[in-house]
Amino acid sequence: MKNSLTIALAGNPNSGKTTLFNQLTGMNQHVGNFPGVTVEKKEAELRGAMAYLPKKDAARVSLVDLPGIYSLSPYSQEEIVARDFIIREKPDAIVDVVDVMNVERGLYLSLQLMQLGTPLVIALNMMDELRENHGSADVAALSEKLGVPVVPISATRHEGIGELLEVAVRTAAEASPPRVTDFCSGAVHRAIHAVTHLIEDHAAWLGISAKFAATKILERDEPLLDALQLTEHERHTIDETARDMELEAGTDRKAAIADMRYEFIGEAVSEAIEKPHITLQQDHSARIDQVLTSKYFGIPIFFGVMAVVFWLTFSVIGAALSDALGALFGAAGEGVARAMEASGVNPVIRSFVGEAVFGGVGSVVSFIPMIIVIFFFMSLLEDSGYMARVAFIMDKLLRKLGLSGRSIIPMILGFGCSVPAIMSARTLSSERDRKVTVMLTPFMSCTAKLPIYGVFVAALFPAWRGLVILSLYAMGIAVAIAVGVILNRLVFRGKPVPFIMELPTYRLPNARTVGILLWHRTRDFLQRAFTVILLATVIIWFLQSFDARLNPVGYGGGSMLDAIGGFLAPAFSPLGIGTGICATAVIAGFIAKETVISCLAVLTGAATVMELQALLPGVFTPLTAYVFLVFCLLYTPCVAAISVVGKEMGGGARGGLAALWMVVRQTAIAWVCAFLVYRVGLLLAG
Ligand code: GDP
Ligand code: MG
Repeated sequence: MKNSLTIALAGNPNSGKTTLFNQLTGMNQHVGNFPGVTVEKKEAELRGAMAYLPKKDAARVSLVDLPGIYSLSPYSQEEIVARDFIIREKPDAIVDVVDVMNVERGLYLSLQLMQLGTPLVIALNMMDELRENHGSADVAALSEKLGVPVVPISATRHEGIGELLEVAVRTAAEASPPRVTDFCSGAVHRAIHAVTHLIEDHAAWLGISAKFAATKILERDEPLLDALQLTEHERHTIDETARDMELEAGTDRKAAIADMRYEFIGEAVSEAIEKPHITLQQDHSARIDQVLTSKYFGIPIFFGVMAVVFWLTFSVIGAALSDALGALFGAAGEGVARAMEASGVNPVIRSFVGEAVFGGVGSVVSFIPMIIVIFFFMSLLEDSGYMARVAFIMDKLLRKLGLSGRSIIPMILGFGCSVPAIMSARTLSSERDRKVTVMLTPFMSCTAKLPIYGVFVAALFPAWRGLVILSLYAMGIAVAIAVGVILNRLVFRGKPVPFIMELPTYRLPNARTVGILLWHRTRDFLQRAFTVILLATVIIWFLQSFDARLNPVGYGGGSMLDAIGGFLAPAFSPLGIGTGICATAVIAGFIAKETVISCLAVLTGAATVMELQALLPGVFTPLTAYVFLVFCLLYTPCVAAISVVGKEMGGGARGGLAALWMVVRQTAIAWVCAFLVYRVGLLLAG
């Protein structure tokens, strides 16, 4: 007996797997009303499962959240991840989450899972929605027809979770395989039967179910066909069988098998589930969509929505909260400084605490409210289902530019942080689209750049905060589009694959989901503030406070940092920002974008954000400030993002080269754009 049991969660995208995963494990994974949010699998211990083990023979039960899939054919990275896990790691049971409101599509995957032979439990999710729309489900009849346990649940309302846990653990412990693996009689059935016999020993040798393998290769699953290592003769016989099946069924191989599955599903569903024709939610969604995704209003509405979000974040709520927190930090910093002075602490330590800790880290931390507010709005937009509409309406536009519509998902995530955004590009099934997307995502303005914008607009454009920031976001998008078109013409010829993503119904955002998301972002940000950013700030403080012989220097200059900044400054002169301060801040930003601000605080000797904001107009004019912002928006992504790019572009030397190329390319693009903005600005200024 194994000393641990593994249960995998499988199901369609947006069926509620992650919500269920969080309920079952007490974890806080990202839930989104947005297909394609979970790409990597996640694992956690299943709490309270031990109570249900018939014999206490397993030490632990763990649960794995797999990416959402529609089928077990290896067409996209998600399907490969999920399928590999199930076939190679052989979980003790699979909990298949089926959205009862889209039950046919969910069962299409279930039938394939049933053939695998792995013990299976179907969790019929979203029962609350079915109930509210006066539908009903005969769970016993469905379970009878499918030959696997079916448990009705509502993941968001925590209904049926305990029962599901019990059934799943039992099924895993007893290792009882699904009872039904034949779905029809007739031509397709005979073909599957014949092929099953033919490949039985090969499948056994691979360790997978012969019936599953037979169905898959009749569907033309090339990777599986290769893995089975059939002889020439066997392959030939299979092709013959398939041809007979096609003739008799009157359609091609794939369609014949899909038809077989849908026919079986149709019977099961008509016997067991009473569905409302159009649900309230769908009805509302359709009406809302008439406006929000309409041909003429869709895109203007999207920009309008974003403008309101930015205005609220940067001019109203977020700005006020950030100012308050900044003032609080400033007061604390002054208090500490006075106390240290009074007790005669060494001036170097005083400078360290005042400039590096309070000035550097403090100036970044005070942006947390702004970041929370923007994430709050973003998660509202995502959880309500609006973001999926945005992907849909932008798709038409992007298609005209030769980009893939699916690339919009990573790009929208890129407004949060490039790291998960670049990783989410794995959901793209075509290699070409994936590479283009990875290259363009870092142009989206990530939240780490917000502190930079925040300080500068408060210092130099107080009346135009929202507008200036909106223009930067828009510029990022515009440059991404331009670069995309160029890549498309020169490097990645070919056509983007068609975009299919169904639109989820609009839902009222769930307070818990939004709360979890906000807490996560805040925690990540704080972690960064006190690790990477603190370290970078300390290094900069050190380089600035000492000369090459490690003697402390005053504000007179001669520090190591002055030397570095002075060396690089000429490169920025054509942009009107050719000062050592700018050059150094930009270099520091490579570690993490927020560091640009903490570095500026240290360099100008500002102890608080307020002080920094008061000092900046002495260093920048509005024009050079804007040029600096443009450069910060576009130049190389931070170290973390670059390392992910390296990994996603193939890893090793090839990935490394791609990542290096990205650093160089983006810095060059940033320089050119900043230069143009500066020149145009000078012309306009007269
Ligand atoms: P995943 O893509 O399968 O991981 O799905 P998620 O867990 O991210 O959930 C997708 C959406 O469905 C989210 O908006 C959830 O809040 C919502 N959802 C999940 N379970 C339920 C449920 O039982 N009832 C209702 N009404 N909504 C649910
Ligand atoms: Mg998920």
